[in-house]
Amino acid sequence: MDRIKYIIDENEMPDKWYNILADLPTPLAPPLNPLTKEPIDPKDLEPIFPKELIKQELTTQRYIKIPEEIREIYKIWRPAPLYRAKRLEEKLKTPAHIYYKNEGVSPPGSHKPNTSVAQTYYNMKEGTERITTETGAGQWGSALSFACNYFDIECKVYMVTSSFYQKPYRKSLINLWGGKVVPSPSPDTQFGRKVLEELPDTTGSLGIAIGEAVEDAALNENTKYALGSVLNHVMLHQTIIGLECQEQMKMAEEYPDIVIGCCGGGSNLAGISFPFMKEKIDGTQDPRIIAVEPSACPTLNKGKYEYDYGDTGKMTPLLKMYSLGYDFVPPAIHAGGLRYHGCAPTVSALVAEGLMEATTYHQQEVFEAGVLFARTEGIAPAPESTHAIKCAIDEALKCKVTGEEKTILFNLSGHGHFDMTSYDKYFNGELSNE
Ligand SMILES: *Cc1c(COP(=O)(O)O)cnc(C)c1O
Repeated sequence: MDRIKYIIDENEMPDKWYNILADLPTPLAPPLNPLTKEPIDPKDLEPIFPKELIKQELTTQRYIKIPEEIREIYKIWRPAPLYRAKRLEEKLKTPAHIYYKNEGVSPPGSHKPNTSVAQTYYNMKEGTERITTETGAGQWGSALSFACNYFDIECKVYMVTSSFYQKPYRKSLINLWGGKVVPSPSPDTQFGRKVLEELPDTTGSLGIAIGEAVEDAALNENTKYALGSVLNHVMLHQTIIGLECQEQMKMAEEYPDIVIGCCGGGSNLAGISFPFMKEKIDGTQDPRIIAVEPSACPTLNKGKYEYDYGDTGKMTPLLKMYSLGYDFVPPAIHAGGLRYHGCAPTVSALVAEGLMEATTYHQQEVFEAGVLFARTEGIAPAPESTHAIKCAIDEALKCKVTGEEKTILFNLSGHGHFDMTSYDKYFNGELSNE
């Protein structure tokens, strides 16, 4: 069997992130102030974000140096391995070459610490003592708690009540790294108290949790807010994934014809694909780049490309993005990280320009793909990541028909060790498609 694992030495880890804003064919539409509907004044964001992150959100500088302190923490799990999925290829009897980047090797188990470590570092530099955030399934909350621990910053997570009880181990991880977590809506904020009074039996939503976390940051001294996806600076930090892949694909002496990522807010997809997208925009290469969404929350596939709010409470700036509407409540599918009504403005713009494709799959077929992956490659994938796996398998099966030896690269955004109840439901035939 050929070589299947491609590893870069930690000293060879990329020392810059790549900023797609330098190369977008049309500049992004500016975020709007939710009250005036005028382009936002960066100063308006200072109560909730540190200045350096506001700068990174807006800059068109192509490469941004990764500070040494961040690289030191990245080295706990980075560079992440790239694998050739030889056993999966053999099982499918495809002539295609399938590669995957394993972002599940980080301590919190997903790609999210690539940005939580960076965001926490810049907060520490500017004297932030406390960071608030919301979390759905708990991936982002645990990644932020992990990062805050290294910079001695207090971490407060508002976790959607339904997940707080359904995913108790992610809550435990948040506590393990020293963070505080409460079910949202909570009595800790004015907004939470108001919701509890009006809807005492609510199981919460991401929109409500965002409202609580933002209020907490805005009203409390030396407290800032952190977001785990959607924003430009988050996409920027995630490009370390694709930059590493470029080096690893060179080691494998191949170039991907197709690059695939699952898409919730867009950050792991942006991470693996933007460095390849640069080459596509430059015209030096022409990979197809595919975003994969759940049929139950098809933002890029069925949403409208227009200005919308990031939250149900209409408190966040308006962003021009594909959206199913700020009040869209997706069905309770198990890929919790893909249940967002909007999508990153950068990813949205690339889809609108025709540079990126988007497709959808149903819940049962992605779990089926996840099981096949576990039984060939040995890794239990996160329900989110199974969307990318399903798409890679379908593209590989097309090659079987045409006889083409295409190179397919996908991002395994996380492991599924805390999602085993979802797999149990799949095996018991209790998983619906909605
Ligand atoms: C959060 C999450 C996602 C979805 O978020 P993106 O910003 O679209 O990447 C996907 N996979 C995993 C494992 C996640 O934790």
